[in-house]
Amino acid sequence: MRHLDSLTYYAATKKYDLSFPRLTEDLEADVVIIGGGFTGVNTALELAEKGITNTVLLEGRYLGYGGTGRNGGQIMAGLGHDLDTVKKHVGKEGLEELFKIGNLGAGIIKERVEKYNIDADFRHGYAYLGSNSRMEKTLREWEKEFKSVSPDEDIQLLTGSDVKQVVGSDAYTCALKHMGAGHVHSLNLLLGEAKAVTELYGVKIFENSMAIDVEYGSTITVRTPTGSVKAKKLLWACNGFLEGMEPNLHTKTINTYAFQLATEPLSDELIEQISPIRGAYSDIRPVIDYYRVTNENRLLFGAATRALEYIPSDLKAWNREQMLKIFPYLDKVKIDLAWGGPLCCSANLFPQMEQSKVTTTCFMFRATLALALHQVILFVRYLQRV
Ligand SMILES: Cc1cc2nc3c(=O)[nH]c(=O)nc-3n(C[C@H](O)[C@H](O)[C@H](O)COP(=O)(O)OP(=O)(O)OC[C@H]3O[C@@H](n4cnc5c(N)ncnc54)[C@H](O)[C@@H]3O)c2cc1C
Repeated sequence: MRHLDSLTYYAATKKYDLSFPRLTEDLEADVVIIGGGFTGVNTALELAEKGITNTVLLEGRYLGYGGTGRNGGQIMAGLGHDLDTVKKHVGKEGLEELFKIGNLGAGIIKERVEKYNIDADFRHGYAYLGSNSRMEKTLREWEKEFKSVSPDEDIQLLTGSDVKQVVGSDAYTCALKHMGAGHVHSLNLLLGEAKAVTELYGVKIFENSMAIDVEYGSTITVRTPTGSVKAKKLLWACNGFLEGMEPNLHTKTINTYAFQLATEPLSDELIEQISPIRGAYSDIRPVIDYYRVTNENRLLFGAATRALEYIPSDLKAWNREQMLKIFPYLDKVKIDLAWGGPLCCSANLFPQMEQSKVTTTCFMFRATLALALHQVILFVRYLQRV
């Protein structure tokens, strides 16, 4: 994927030296998963915790090659939608239920990090940012919903000069602080989970094992160039990297692209100015800027383009320009790394999970945002019912 594949902050600061063999045999399993990102690995882990351990996961390149090893590490809560619009479709109770689900992510990640002792720089602290009165109104609605589902959390709407209590930028007129959400080193989280699922539960993971053919039937056979897996159930978990492999999956989604940069490590004073809460941030426009500070005092700044297929040719320069609109005082700061990648998006921007029409034992999952984790938990619950 050309320059989008350049070194990421995550690969450069990876703490787990973990690799898995290529599939070179014919195996039988209860479940076969295609794709080694958060969706695939967390489904395997969640299944294993529920006693289903005869799972084989096939990753075409290496774990974290996809969005999971490229993202902003932002653990957002909530829905990221206009609540009145959502309410029209699901009603008041449905909206409350969705908020409860949308709030699970940070808790699940924290639990996993503690349970499996994963070294992934997990940290609480988040703020949603707005720059006009319409966005302030939206944030007020979010504040109400967030508080109703987590009354003990530090959640507070700030306006005017108080916004600087959470973020050091003049670009915003309002901010909703949410200390229940936060950020994480996504690749270390993924690799820590992969270590747990293979070492503690005996799940088999294969890298460099691209699924090239799938035969559907009462059992499903997935073939790679050098082996095969016959299983009762299949999960497609390839997100924006499916590349036409399963045409049925492409009908309801499109790929959009997001980009990231990592600055050089900054002084404590500068970090305190940018982010008094050492947190993660996103504005609430349809195409967002999102950023966070890391343990090494870097700013990871991310943005997307409005044009679906537009990939800037100079990622460092393009990302830097976006960053300077928000933090002009960082104009002397060096940009160490820049990268990007696709993520698949549904028309309504909600995560999609679906049972194949071809066979009732094939499942498809298309995560959108929210680190895919809490969506996976729901997926596994769904999987258990069918
Ligand atoms: C630049 C960027 C920034 C983002 N920032 C955030 C953020 O801050 N917060 C957030 O919540 N989300 C963010 N996202 C989205 C988030 O990263 C994704 O939603 C999530 O990681 C998707 O996980 P996944 O497991 O579904 O797919 P992926 O992580 O994309 O994994 C799919 C895997 O499938 C493999 N694969 C594809 N085809 C085959 C095949 N035929 N056989 C075997 N393997 C195959 C690929 O190699 C890949 O490893 C961002 C995404 C990008 C690109």
